[in-house]
Amino acid sequence: MSLSLPLTDISPLQFAVTQNPSPKSDAERAEILANPGFGLHFTDHMAQIHWSERGGWHRATIEPYAKISLDPAAAVLHYGQEIFEGLKAYRHADGSIWTFRPDQNGLRLQRSARRLALPELPLPVFLDSLKNLVRADAAWVPEGGETSLYLRPFMFAAEAFLGVRAARKVYYFVIASPAGAYFTGGVQPVSIWLSTDYARAGHGGTGAAKTGGNYAASLLPQQEAYAQGCDQVLFLQDGNLEELGGMNLVLVKKDGTLVTPASDSILEGITRDSLLQLAEERGHAVERRAVSIEEWREGAASGEIVEAFACGTAAVVNPIARLKAKDFTIELPVLPEDKSVAMSLRKELTDIQYGRIEDTHGWLYRLDAGSDDESSAK
Ligand SMILES: *Cc1c(COP(=O)(O)O)cnc(C)c1O
Repeated sequence: MSLSLPLTDISPLQFAVTQNPSPKSDAERAEILANPGFGLHFTDHMAQIHWSERGGWHRATIEPYAKISLDPAAAVLHYGQEIFEGLKAYRHADGSIWTFRPDQNGLRLQRSARRLALPELPLPVFLDSLKNLVRADAAWVPEGGETSLYLRPFMFAAEAFLGVRAARKVYYFVIASPAGAYFTGGVQPVSIWLSTDYARAGHGGTGAAKTGGNYAASLLPQQEAYAQGCDQVLFLQDGNLEELGGMNLVLVKKDGTLVTPASDSILEGITRDSLLQLAEERGHAVERRAVSIEEWREGAASGEIVEAFACGTAAVVNPIARLKAKDFTIELPVLPEDKSVAMSLRKELTDIQYGRIEDTHGWLYRLDAGSDDESSAK
């Protein structure tokens, strides 16, 4: 099986590779990979592509990881015209390096670009940027357990101009950061604070785009969550469930039905989409529709709703043990791993990602080998 995109398209851009003359030593890198944490350390290289209104996409490079020099008037610093993506490179037992459904990330980057009036990066160029960076930094992809190399593509308005309009000069980058296992001492269910004073997005806004501004809007409510003794914040829109600051939400009913909010102001997660597809293939009913907070309250009280979980690339699945609101609290029983639909789906998905079971969907995409103009699906 192969990804349903024209991988045979020859990328119009060739990446010029400049090796880092002073990369981290093997010993330094080994020390970082032994305990990488998340988002703390970065590899020796980065990918960069420039865009201008006149010249389109040009100057594609892999170069040493370094500070970016920006004019203080660069539009992104003033008006937040920025988008990003997040995906992981996984090392399989045979040493090969793969990523998961990168076509979906590339298409989502294009949708985000349209909403933020940024230029769309062609899909083959997006995939090439990942491949070229991971080939330069292959030694940074950790081995074993649930470790990975987190890839962070991002794009922003680089034009020095304080007038308010879409920038005519844009930079695209990919940086990479080794990531340790999210759950070290077994699964830690999270507690969630229900934000009723703040929203992360509104109808017709940028909620469905992966843009920094949505995260900026979530930081104050996130602080409120911490002050309430909770780990994460859940947002509502018109009394309906939306999502967490950076993860989607799924409820599981007693009869095995999975219910997830449908809304024009949430970010469509690739993790959620994949988990729900696996669930449907197992015979679970899946409902994508408006879900009110009342439905969750009543369902939890009656025993109709038995599990809730958050999902996204970083943690894959986070079971939710408690939802705390101003005037009520929902407690969900913490199911043992072999009784939890959430954890069972998590296992199947990570088994696919790490190559422990067969990838029957054509979701894996090889990053470290294969000619550039050939499908590299397994
Ligand atoms: C990235 C993101 C998600 C999760 O998306 P995945 O593709 O599953 O990683 C969910 N919500 C928001 C707001 C996000 O930015």
